[in-house]
Order: sequence, then structure tokens, then C-alpha cells
Amino acid sequence: MSDLIRTCGSCTLCCKLFPVPDLGKPAGTWCRHIAQGRGCGIHATRPDLCRAFWCQWIENPDLGPEWKPEKAKFVLSIYPGSQSLAVTVDPAYPASWRGDAYLPSLRRWARAAMEDKEFVIVFVGDDATIILPEGEKPLGRLGPGDKIVGLRRGNAFDVAVRRA
Ligand code: SF4
Ligand code: SF4
Repeated sequence: MSDLIRTCGSCTLCCKLFPVPDLGKPAGTWCRHIAQGRGCGIHATRPDLCRAFWCQWIENPDLGPEWKPEKAKFVLSIYPGSQSLAVTVDPAYPASWRGDAYLPSLRRWARAAMEDKEFVIVFVGDDATIILPEGEKPLGRLGPGDKIVGLRRGNAFDVAVRRA
């Protein structure tokens, strides 16, 4: 925390997009404790999950102001159990990640990730889409234990899902 160079300021988007089981809060709806534009209304006693989370905009100083979640309308984070990048999109702006300010970078990162058997995964609600260096692949809902597998044919990348 002390190493972080940024603060959330008026952004609260992760408090909408992610579930908080301790509060019975589902994904995609505002937490009842949000104080809009000011952050968490129960900051001192917020759940551990909330304390532990920092999005990539907070953690990665290379991301410019256009990537701040309240502006981008999506949150970048590391997909649990991997080094893949999750792009969790505000369902009120489902195409936000396709903007010219974002998609070229996402494709570039996707190529680098796939070279390392990792991925850039867009989530709009329950629907997952893998960004490919050239194109994208809708995967639908990913269940627990489902595994994304990268495929490479020459310079072309593709993915498949091994369902649990
Ligand atoms: S999405 Fe990132 S910048 Fe916005 S409130 Fe959450 S941690 Fe802070
Ligand atoms: S408890 Fe606070 S930090 Fe956690 S989701 Fe709700 S408003 Fe956000």
C-alpha cells in the first residue's frame, strides 16, 4: 500500500463490478456502502477482500489517465491464479474496451501474454472474451475449473476452453 503512487480519488468502479461475498453483494451492482464520488462508507471496517484489492491502474504507473476505471468504464486486474489480465467491463458501457484508446493496446498486450501462455480476458457480466493479437474469441461463461488453452499455428494465435 505504501508503495502505491496513485489513489482512487473519485473512482469507485470496482465497488460496482466485483462481488463481495461477505456482504452478499453480487457482481455488477453498486455496493450499498458506497458513498458516490467519495469512496467506501465503511472504510475502517470494510471486508478483507476490499482491503486486498487494487486495480492495475493503481498499481501500474505506465497506465495513463485514460485507463483510470471511472473514465475507461472497465477495471484492469490480474486474473486470480494467473498472470493473465482481466478487463472487467461496466455492463452499462459494454463496448468501452473497444475504443481506439484501448483496443490497440489490449491487442498488443494479448500478443505478449500469449507468448507466455497467458491471456487478456474481457468480462462483460458472465460473458468472457479472449482478445487475440488479431481478433477476439467469445468464450461464454467460464465455470470453476474451466481451463483456457492457447493454440498457436505459425504466427496465428487461437484459444480453446477445456470445460471442467
Ligand atoms: S477501480 Fe481501481 S481506481 Fe477505481 S476505486 Fe477500484 S481500486 Fe480504486
Ligand atoms: S465495502 Fe466499501 S470497499 Fe467494499 S465494495 Fe462496498 S463500498 Fe467498496
